[in-house]
Amino acid sequence: MTSTAPARRLRIGIGGIGIESSTFCPHRSTTDDFRQTRGQDLLDRYTWTRPDSDLADVVEWVPLLHATSLPGGPVEAESYLVLKDELVTRIREAGPLDGMVYDIHGAMSVIGLTDAEGDLTDAVRAALDAHGTRPLLSAAMDLHGNVSRRFAGPCDLLTAHRLAPHEDAWDTRERAARNLVRCLRDGTRPHRAWVQVPVLLPGEKTSTRLEPAKSLYASLADIERKDGILDAAMWVGYAWADEPRCKAAIVVTGDDAQLAAAEAEKLARRYWDARRDFVFVGPTGSAQECIEKAVASDKRPFLISDSGDNPTAGGAGDLAYMLGELLANDAIRTGRVTAVHPGITDPVAVARCFEAGVGAEVTLGVGGKVDAGHGGPYELTGTVTALQRATEQKDRAEGGAYDRGVDMAAVRVGGLTVVLVERRKPFHTLADFTGPAEGGLGVDPRTYDLVVVKIGYLEPELHDLAADWLLALTPGGVDQDLLRLGHHRVERPLYPFDDDAYADGPGPDLTATLL
Ligand SMILES: [Zn+2]
Repeated sequence: MTSTAPARRLRIGIGGIGIESSTFCPHRSTTDDFRQTRGQDLLDRYTWTRPDSDLADVVEWVPLLHATSLPGGPVEAESYLVLKDELVTRIREAGPLDGMVYDIHGAMSVIGLTDAEGDLTDAVRAALDAHGTRPLLSAAMDLHGNVSRRFAGPCDLLTAHRLAPHEDAWDTRERAARNLVRCLRDGTRPHRAWVQVPVLLPGEKTSTRLEPAKSLYASLADIERKDGILDAAMWVGYAWADEPRCKAAIVVTGDDAQLAAAEAEKLARRYWDARRDFVFVGPTGSAQECIEKAVASDKRPFLISDSGDNPTAGGAGDLAYMLGELLANDAIRTGRVTAVHPGITDPVAVARCFEAGVGAEVTLGVGGKVDAGHGGPYELTGTVTALQRATEQKDRAEGGAYDRGVDMAAVRVGGLTVVLVERRKPFHTLADFTGPAEGGLGVDPRTYDLVVVKIGYLEPELHDLAADWLLALTPGGVDQDLLRLGHHRVERPLYPFDDDAYADGPGPDLTATLL
C-alpha cells in the first residue's frame, strides 16, 4: 500500500564504525587501519542507495561516515575518539533525520573502554535525537558481534548475518535498510525481545556449514515469516575479547511483543541446549600433528589453517610459529614435499627482500615482533623468488576492508615458499596469492602440496581448492583453545569456562527482556 507513504522522501543517514578486535592481541589498531568512506563513495557501497533502486523515490540517503578495518588488536583510544567525533558531528550537522542505517561489526574493543559499541551507540543516539525528534536506528551487524543491553537499548532494529562464512553480508545490510524504511513508512516503532545466552564459542565451532549452527540459523527465516515478527537475529558473540558482554545473544523484532519474546526465548533455549554439539568445523590438531598428516597424505593440495594467528579474526598476523614448525619437518625442508605459507607480517623483512632483489639469498629475522609471545622472530635463510609492489585491489565482498595493497616478497627455503607481507593481509582468494597479472607475485597455490594459511574456517575459494584440510590449533591472539587464553572479565558462569555450572538445575534464566 502506498496510501500511508509520506508526501516527502524519508531522510535516512548511513554510517558506522566496524572492526573486530581481540583484546588478547598485542597489535593496536589506529585510524590508519580504517578504510573511511564519506559522501558519494559511501552511497556507492550499497545497491539499494542507487538512483535505479525502488527505494530512490522514497528515501533521501544521507551519507555520514563509514569506517571499517581488517580485524586486529584493540583500537587506540585517540583513534576511536577521532572516528566517533566525526560520525557524531556529521549526524548533528545532517539536520533532522527520520532514521539511520548503522553499519557496524559489533566486536570493537577500544583501549580503556568497556563495551565500545555501547559507548558509540549512546553518542549516536544522542546526536540523532538532538533535533527534538527520535529517529529510528537500524543496526546491521556481523554475527560475531556482541549485543549488550546498553548497546541494544538505543537501537530500534538490530539484525545480523545468517551465514558463516558471511556470504550474506550485503543481504544483512539491505535487510537493515529495508526493515527501517518499512517501519518508517508504517509509522511503527517495533518491540525488541533481547536475551543473552551464557555460551561463548569461537567462530570455527559455529560455522553455518555444520550443525547445530546450520539449523539454528536457518530457523531465523521461519521466525521472521510469522505474523507480527519483522526480524530475527542471533549472535554467536566474539570469543577473543575479555568483556562482560561477550556471549551469544538473540534479538527478535516485531509489532507483537509477546510473540517476539516467546520466539526469542525458544531460540535461546535451543542455543543453550545445543552448546555441547558445536564442534570444530574440521578435524584439528597441533601444528606438528597437522603437518605430519598433511605430508603423509596423497590429497593435494592439502590445506592447513594456522588458526591462532588469523588476522581476519583479530590475530597479529606476524607469528612465525607455524613457519618454524614447517621447517622442522624433514620432507618440507629437503623439498621432497612443497608448501606455501603466505601472510607473515614483517615490513623490515619485506624491505630487505626488495633491496636484495629476486634471485638473491637473504637471511632474515622473520615475524614475532608485534606478537612476541610465541617464539619471537624466526631466523630464515632463503632465496627471494618473487616481489610484488603494493597495488590498489578491488573492493572485496566484506565491504572494502581489505582493499589496500601491500608490498609482498616470496622467499623459498627447501620445499617451502613463505610469503612475507609489509602489513597485515588476509589470503582468502587465489588472487591474493597470485596478485595482478603484471607485476604480481605469481604464487599459484594449486601447484603446492601443502597450503598453510593464517585463517580459521576456509573462505569459499580456499574451501573449493582444498583436497583435504586440517585446522591447526596454533597459539596467538585468536587461539581457538579459549580456556588457555585467560579470560577474567567475562560474566560467569559461562560455557565452556564453567562446563558444569548448571549440571543439577534447570539451566540459566533465558527470559527475554522487551526493549
Ligand atoms: Zn564474523
